[in-house]
Amino acid sequence: MRILVVEDDCALRQQLCEQLTKTGYVVDAAGDGAEGEYLGREIAFDAAVIDLGLPQLDGLELIRRLRQARQTFPIIVLTARGHWQDKVHGLEAGADDYLAKPFEMPELLARLNALIRRAAGFASSLIAVGALSIDTRRQQAVLHDKPLELTAFEYRVLEYLMLNTERIVSKSELTEHLYAQDFDRDSNVIEVFVGRLRKKIEPLKLIRTVRGQGYLVSVAQHSSAADA
Ligand code: CA
Repeated sequence: MRILVVEDDCALRQQLCEQLTKTGYVVDAAGDGAEGEYLGREIAFDAAVIDLGLPQLDGLELIRRLRQARQTFPIIVLTARGHWQDKVHGLEAGADDYLAKPFEMPELLARLNALIRRAAGFASSLIAVGALSIDTRRQQAVLHDKPLELTAFEYRVLEYLMLNTERIVSKSELTEHLYAQDFDRDSNVIEVFVGRLRKKIEPLKLIRTVRGQGYLVSVAQHSSAADA
């Protein structure tokens, strides 16, 4: 999952980047609204954390412009303590949630997780397909009631595919949402990880390869295969 952070307070921005990266997110950060707008238009993010008081382009205008540009990813605004109007204006501009400064990092992480999950259409942090389920809050996968040993990256790949069930996810989309650095898009790294993941969840043929297009996790296809 790729997160945009727009915060002009250097120390807070660094802290956000560190915590989000530690949690397994890929983070792109901007120190002003103009850079935030550029990144927000260029990159396919899964969510954004945007401070309202920003140089060059304030947070409200930034959110309005991103929404006008049809960027629909969930946005949490950071507001100054006691400024309740900021929360209202933020939501009106197109934000989905807010946090007043100073805030506790676990609260931000929990809200972000919930927003991403809800944006994907899931009401609960437990997502199940057949005998496999993931808990997006604990970042744990369970197969046939037993915890599944996955590396952090394997979990991220599985989580992304499961949050996007019934939709073909291309390799370049996975690369874009799960990798920090730009790297060779022709690389077969994603294939290797999906291969390892498949081995761990065998004989559940959960991840289908759609030739020339990408990967598909389908509930319908899976249950009919299990019935057969
Ligand atoms: Ca600020």
